[in-house]
Amino acid sequence: MQRLVVDLHQICARRVVLTPEQIHYLGRVLRLRVGDRFVAMDGKGQSWIVKLVEGEASPFEAELLEAIALNTELPIAVTLVMALPKGSGFDEVVRQATELGVTCIAPVISDRTLLHPSPQRLKRWQRIVQEAAEQSERQIVPTLLEPVSFSKHLQDMRDRPSTHYLCVTRSSAPHILTCLLPNTCPPLSITIAIGPEGGWTEAEVEQAIATGYQPISLGSRILRAVTAPVVALSLVAAVCETSGSHQA
Ligand code: SAH
Repeated sequence: MQRLVVDLHQICARRVVLTPEQIHYLGRVLRLRVGDRFVAMDGKGQSWIVKLVEGEASPFEAELLEAIALNTELPIAVTLVMALPKGSGFDEVVRQATELGVTCIAPVISDRTLLHPSPQRLKRWQRIVQEAAEQSERQIVPTLLEPVSFSKHLQDMRDRPSTHYLCVTRSSAPHILTCLLPNTCPPLSITIAIGPEGGWTEAEVEQAIATGYQPISLGSRILRAVTAPVVALSLVAAVCETSGSHQA
């Protein structure tokens, strides 16, 4: 069934008042008609089966039929901190990270980051997050934070209870799986940081470790900056979804 993210304030008396863009999308793009059903999700964990009905002031409204109890979310919160890759590389990272179950995406500007994004880019990434959440049948739309410098991120993270992993290449750091698997009492929240194409500088690695990051490896080969988050998030999701103790 088609999925659409709606704002909670659009719901009143079991009716969803649709925006002109949503009416266009449902009627013209998806070609739904009065009586057709789709899934409305509020992006914060709730979703409903809804039916298109004629609106009083617009061509369509949607009527809530029933709440959906299904949960497709990972049992832990996963934050991806990523030094912005060059070009449009982050578009695909945002889409894939959302499909893989990330809770929060935090773009950072590191010493070797080449891209300094415009506000339009941020809007574009926000749209991609929403589309990917609908497509992959998530209950929540991941939070996309505004880009900050890596050192500002390190300052901010001091107050956040999370297990922080810094992905580093060519080091003797343990593999991410060996950090995740022996964990019989897994953390409730994991943060994974990926560097830019040129890698983290030595100073950044030292500063991150001093702030609480644990260096980890994703294997013996050097992955492209845009491949590394897919590998890391796939492993985290696989461990969470196959280990009973992770379902608490
Ligand atoms: N030119 C850099 C490679 C950077 S790859 C170098 O030669 O070291 C971009 C980022 O992806 C890295 O900063 C790291 O965070 C992550 N990454 C890539 N391959 C990795 C691996 N095998 N293990 C851990 N992290 C990796």
